[in-house]
Amino acid sequence: MTAPKLVAIDDEAEFTKTLHQFFSARGYEVHIALTGTSGLELVELHEPQVVLVDLKLPGMDGDEVLQHIRRTHPATRVIVVTAYNDGGRTRERLLALGAFAHFDKPLSSLRDLADTVKRALESQK
Ligand SMILES: [Mg+2]
Repeated sequence: MTAPKLVAIDDEAEFTKTLHQFFSARGYEVHIALTGTSGLELVELHEPQVVLVDLKLPGMDGDEVLQHIRRTHPATRVIVVTAYNDGGRTRERLLALGAFAHFDKPLSSLRDLADTVKRALESQK
């Protein structure tokens, strides 16, 4: 079986490093990007099953990344992980735009995120 592919896009380099280590150790092929534009290039190149994306990014933000992926790679599941919180309005908007899930940063546990990534994979079968 080939490893499921994950692209993580976040301008916090430490966080992408953490995600890379965590998901690589769990058998994922992980690619990371620090900007929305380079993240979309990785999506084109690797066609991942799941994308983790921050909302506040330099240049193209997470909203645009989400909408672009929904259009060009409808099977790819997009999970937004963001410190930006306005009492649920953003969360609702992102889910309406087709995000598979939304997580607040800092994450209380990477295991919850891993469970959701697993659900995202299963939802594609
Ligand atoms: Mg950010």
